[in-house]
Amino acid sequence: MLALVKVDAGPGLRLQEVPRPDIGINDVLIRVHKTGICGTDLHIESWDPWAAKTIHPPQVIGHEFVGEVADVGANVTDFHPGELVSGEGHVTCGRCRHCLAGQRHLCVNTVGLGVNRDGAFAEYVALPMTNVWHHAPGIDEEVAAIFDPFGNAVHTALAFEVLGEDVLVTGAGPIGLMASAVARHAGARNIVISEPNAFRRDLAMRMGATIAIDPRERDLRDVQRELGMVEGFDVAFEMSGNATALRSAIDNMAHGGRIAILGIPTAEISLDVNTIVFNQLTLRGIYGREMYETWYKMRVLIQSGLDIRPAITHRFGFRDFEAAFAAARSGDSGKVIMDWGAS
Ligand code: NAD
Ligand code: ZN
Repeated sequence: MLALVKVDAGPGLRLQEVPRPDIGINDVLIRVHKTGICGTDLHIESWDPWAAKTIHPPQVIGHEFVGEVADVGANVTDFHPGELVSGEGHVTCGRCRHCLAGQRHLCVNTVGLGVNRDGAFAEYVALPMTNVWHHAPGIDEEVAAIFDPFGNAVHTALAFEVLGEDVLVTGAGPIGLMASAVARHAGARNIVISEPNAFRRDLAMRMGATIAIDPRERDLRDVQRELGMVEGFDVAFEMSGNATALRSAIDNMAHGGRIAILGIPTAEISLDVNTIVFNQLTLRGIYGREMYETWYKMRVLIQSGLDIRPAITHRFGFRDFEAAFAAARSGDSGKVIMDWGAS
């Protein structure tokens, strides 16, 4: 089969023939239809310091996908050829304290699809059956292809109550955009999104933001005044990984405010702990998706009318992967989809 492979330590990817993955008795083999490009894939492609210490080439990359079941192992009774599925990319051990307690998102032995095991930028991908998710009939395949980052957005946006609350979102990348749409759908009052990129601010306004500001040009206190807010934001989603953005969130929260942090900084960040203490803020890290409560919520949010399609801005065939990666890297894009020629 054809797959996008990090062939050796260094920048670049190669589209090449590799063996179709073998499946064990508990595994599902999936014919990939469409995939989404994540920031992680850009890190691996460019071979930054994180990739250099994490990835062991040769490695098939990619973890955001939708496809159809092609084959199943002897123990698998719930999946059948032809069914439309996506995969939870965090393969958990099943044996640690948290796995045994049914809290697999807290597993201490997580293995990442397309990071620590061969991934989904390929014609076929294999996963344990406990990592495979059936889609509801009629789902848009492009939406299904990005259930993984949509799950990051849902996990973050529903970490704290947003009904009637004023929400700050720092970073309007694909995940910040989708989280804004979820907060709107879930009944937030004001949603202020802070994002330096103008293309992404426009997308944010189409996805439920009340106001989208350029943090270099406009102060959040000024925005609060314009919206008639008095005490600060009740909830914030940190979706940028940027130190200034996290500090601005901490500075603009109401007393008792809650900050869900999904963004991954590249270096340590110093914070004003006095403000966290005296204003009694809660800061909570969010990683991945809850298995499988977040997936259930994703399904029903889509069924109840949530539309995340505006976050998808570019489509390419898999042979044009270089153009697809360039579009994802440009910043003037939302989600970039690659089609693997099967749908
Ligand atoms: P992205 O890089 O496309 O988006 C980040 C956005 O933040 C960009 O649009 C950037 O312009 C913006 N930004 C930069 N500086 C800013 C500032 N000072 N204020 C406001 N915005 C600023 O990323 P994404 O794919 O949307 O993912 C969002 C973040 O979540 C990234 O940091 C990513 O690494 C991280 N992530 C975490 C998990 C997890 O499980 N915790 C999973 C996926 C992604
Ligand atoms: Zn575990």
